[in-house]
Amino acid sequence: MGGMTAAPSGNPLLGDWSRAFGLPPFGAIRPQQFRPAFEEALSRHQAEVEAIAADPAPASFVNTIEALERSGRLLDRVDSVFSVLAGADTGEAIEAVEREVSPLLARHSNAIYLNRALYARIAALHDRRAGLGLSPEQARTLDRYHTRFVRAGAALEKPAQDRLAAINERLASLGTQFGQNVLADEKAYALVLEEGDLAGLPDFARAAARAAAEERGHQGKYAITLARSSSETFLQFSARRDLREKVFQAWIRRGENGGATDNRALIAEMVALRAERAQLLGFASFADYRLDDQMAKTPANARKLLDEVWGRARAKAEAERDALQGLIAQEGGNFALAPHDWRYYAEKLRKARYDLDEAELKPYLQLDKMIAAAFETARRLFGLTFTPVDVPLYHQDARAYEVKDAEGRHIGLFIGDYFARPSKHSGAWMTSLRKQQKLAGAAPVILNICNFSKPAAGEPALLSFDDARTLFHEFGHALHGLLSNVTYPLLAGTSVPSDFVELPSQLYEHWLEVPEILEKYARHAKTGAPMPKALLDKVLATRTFNQGFATVEYTACALVDLDLHGLREPGALDVGDFERRDLAALQMPAEIVMRHRLPHFQHLFSGGGYAAGYYSYMWSEVLDADAFAAFEEAGNAFDPATAKRLRDTIYSAGNLRDPAEAYKAFRGRLPSVEALLKKRGLTDAAA
Ligand SMILES: [Zn+2]
Repeated sequence: MGGMTAAPSGNPLLGDWSRAFGLPPFGAIRPQQFRPAFEEALSRHQAEVEAIAADPAPASFVNTIEALERSGRLLDRVDSVFSVLAGADTGEAIEAVEREVSPLLARHSNAIYLNRALYARIAALHDRRAGLGLSPEQARTLDRYHTRFVRAGAALEKPAQDRLAAINERLASLGTQFGQNVLADEKAYALVLEEGDLAGLPDFARAAARAAAEERGHQGKYAITLARSSSETFLQFSARRDLREKVFQAWIRRGENGGATDNRALIAEMVALRAERAQLLGFASFADYRLDDQMAKTPANARKLLDEVWGRARAKAEAERDALQGLIAQEGGNFALAPHDWRYYAEKLRKARYDLDEAELKPYLQLDKMIAAAFETARRLFGLTFTPVDVPLYHQDARAYEVKDAEGRHIGLFIGDYFARPSKHSGAWMTSLRKQQKLAGAAPVILNICNFSKPAAGEPALLSFDDARTLFHEFGHALHGLLSNVTYPLLAGTSVPSDFVELPSQLYEHWLEVPEILEKYARHAKTGAPMPKALLDKVLATRTFNQGFATVEYTACALVDLDLHGLREPGALDVGDFERRDLAALQMPAEIVMRHRLPHFQHLFSGGGYAAGYYSYMWSEVLDADAFAAFEEAGNAFDPATAKRLRDTIYSAGNLRDPAEAYKAFRGRLPSVEALLKKRGLTDAAA
């Protein structure tokens, strides 16, 4: 990319980006430059689209679809830098721009998708598609355009379109507010502790808590924050039941604290607007609308899978609960296991049963070594190499690597930004500054954003096994973006249905557990010694430990999501009441809380990428469990022929094919749920 000359205004967002890998000039970017840059980029894109719609020549693939694919490059550029900063390094100024710009972007998207003249050209091409002499990729691109326009309401009458446009703008503002509210609640909270409050906490957790306190100006004290790595670790190890309860309550009440950051009214409005939008488009509910364009196709299909898992998971969780309650009794406790006790006693039970202690494991899981392990896996599977490069990024903790293929050709740039900080939204995600495409000859720039605890100066960053799995997960998404090999940007990388997009990421997690990877990269932070074989064996033996809990915690979220977005007339919804009643109907075990309660469920409401789509993780897990079995059947986790097929059909293929077809091209058939049940240890109910 690049080649754009410096803007007369001197706004670096509109200027030349031809320096290092076409990266934005981060050092020169100021929050107040975004609003004018968005305005310029939106008006340029608008003019490009209007010219395509008004072209006097009859519609052709080149003058309509390809022209649309070439349009909006400045907007892509400005928007992708902005999105990265708004997620990973935000502040009041960026948040203000985000609130101003999100309805503008929604209005802009409405103006394109509801443009009648433009839709008429796409529909005319779609009608004549068989006779256009298109390549398979071109045919797929045209088909995706047609589907997207129809699903956005392009074929509706004007009054319905006007209402849709208003709904979309409002939803965009609500989604922005939702995410900002969660972040505000997270930033506002820190449990500041004294040395004497740390009973049970291993060294790494003390070090992380000390660093977190320092970052917040409490020198010499210890802080537990609402970053998942901080609060979950505390819940797992703290012997102080009173403090565990405090942290847990703060954690599950995010977005539900009353006042300006309370999300419940926003959720009710969003759910009602989504249902209304779906009905304008001819669907019974938002879930019906959403799943129509997913691999699952209908809420009933998604539900069938979740139901198959739910009963088994609950039974397993109940057996786990009884074992934990037994442990409490053994220790002379006379209280019933509460949600804030589960992780603590599960950790104890794991230690007792498998003699495996997370604190003993953690020194072997250094962040730098786990990054190297993810890279090594990509080298052995796909021939990729990763070389650190010194380029200016948006934050000192972010690091960049040039990615090359086995022949030494430039593939793209990978940026890892791993540490939690107050300016970062919670969770872990992959995003991009530039997507791969051959049409304009662009190499991808892909980011992984995580929230691991930052160590104190001079200490190595250590991960939990869960953190390491998250790292591999996001890196799998990154490879989906980096290996993408398509002509048209619409089809690039992760531009696939959300119930398919978790296949490359979840599949990649399997290689973390391949013994030869752990043997090489799980090295003790102080001594450099490899992880002892006995410890490694214990790690692998505990894979299905506590999986009843994990499966219940997740599946409850997926079921509540489908129920909420399956409402035909949500009306004036009392969100807290809905959540309580739905969980009661599902017979949710009282000792487990949803992994994401509705008031902070960002997958559903911060933007809405996974609204009626949280089931996607499990849908994709059916695929990943079965896909990894292909390597096991080949007797080699790096089997070259299987790896090549995987790259050709999945990791490099973006949305070139319907997901079911893509999977069949890899595996020769569709999977069954059996591999998933086995992987999670749900084939019998014993804890
Ligand atoms: Zn993912």
